[in-house]
Amino acid sequence: MPYVQDTLAALRRTSPAQDEFYQAVEEILLSLRPLLDRDPRYRANNIIDRIVEPERQIMFRVTWIDDKGRIQVNKGYRIQFNSTLGPYKGGLRFHPSVNAGIIKFLGFEQIFKNALTGLPIGGAKGGANFDPKGKSDNEIMRFCQSFMTELYRHIGPTIDVPAGDIGVGMREIGYLYGQYKRLTGSYDGVLTGKGLKWGGSLVRKEATGYGAVYLAENMLRAKKESLEGRVCTVSGAGNVAIYTIEKLYQLGAIPVTASDSGGMIYHKTGINLETLKRIKEVERVSLEAYVKEHPDAVYTPVEQYPEGRNPVWSIPCEAAFPSATQNELNGEDAAELVRNGCKLVCEGANMPSTPEAIDVFLDAKIAFGPGKAANAGGVATSQLEMSQNASMHQWSFEEVDRRLREIMANIYISISETAAEFGEPGNFVLGANIAGFRKVADAMIEQGA
Ligand code: GLU
Repeated sequence: MPYVQDTLAALRRTSPAQDEFYQAVEEILLSLRPLLDRDPRYRANNIIDRIVEPERQIMFRVTWIDDKGRIQVNKGYRIQFNSTLGPYKGGLRFHPSVNAGIIKFLGFEQIFKNALTGLPIGGAKGGANFDPKGKSDNEIMRFCQSFMTELYRHIGPTIDVPAGDIGVGMREIGYLYGQYKRLTGSYDGVLTGKGLKWGGSLVRKEATGYGAVYLAENMLRAKKESLEGRVCTVSGAGNVAIYTIEKLYQLGAIPVTASDSGGMIYHKTGINLETLKRIKEVERVSLEAYVKEHPDAVYTPVEQYPEGRNPVWSIPCEAAFPSATQNELNGEDAAELVRNGCKLVCEGANMPSTPEAIDVFLDAKIAFGPGKAANAGGVATSQLEMSQNASMHQWSFEEVDRRLREIMANIYISISETAAEFGEPGNFVLGANIAGFRKVADAMIEQGA
């Protein structure tokens, strides 16, 4: 398809060495063919070239003092990709792998994910190549304060509203928010994922994981099936994975795995949620600690992973929830999952499946919920937090959860109807990409953006 090749060639020339970004762009563009063929306005308005170009990219130095008194330096980023549908919205990722290309791919995905929620939010992302692992609480605080000392001038409750992502949870949002208030004097809820005592929303912490399971529930219900009694595998051990596991239990499923940067746990009778939460949310230590309390669980350290593949995907299951990071599930993993009888894959992380893996799932015609749709519950609940802040109210857990469930059900309707409209029922990659793109592209044409 020439428009795909031409766009990618231009990006490689003007924005070199951003592989994850090209991957995310290619995935969307490949889905758009039937839309572009049907509606000439998109080509006539040069919308592809316009939509792959971020509105603004900010790169900055973050200097901070470690516990030994040495000055450290990291790279900070905020990409304000598209504000056609509303204020920029998207998380901050603190991880050593962060670079301009990773932030760009995440920001690009965020545009369409946010559009799919049906809420008025544009797409953005940010972060730093800072590694929170092994840092003291004071070091984290000083880093966050320094990061915000630059970022505050670029954000605002109607301009750009950051949140968490990998390495940025409530603790980091607290330090960032404290510094924002110190610098601006404004208590305007500029970040989401805040603590419940200071403007946060109930269910925000749980929202991405719960949302991924709600989407899975909708996909299965359409086939007159349910999660009840199903063995599920989950990768990751952060916010998304923990609350995916929690919701799976609530719906009667049996989640049997979790993983972190050090290794993976397989607990055949079901992951003990209480232990997992304590290890990861309170003690903040490696998953290895889990087997000390549950000797019937098996721990495999990364050094023993076969050919760099995460053994989570070799565990037989009926549903899989990749909830760790990008490109964590490759073509071989996908083939093994399908061979072992997996019927559903729902992406809690951003772009966890490689293009080869997605092809395997689509060819096998299993229910595949792409991240843009499946993990949209997190950002959707962030928008509910913004609504509560703007009206100076706090809604109950039940109220926010009800809205989240409704948003995920609407996302399912939107992606399944769009897939059917373009003659590929059940292809939710096509459904999500076209539904998200069409909304943003139409608004860009209307705004001349
Ligand atoms: N980082 C999350 C995501 O990838 C949440 C973003 C937000 O709440 O703004 O969608």
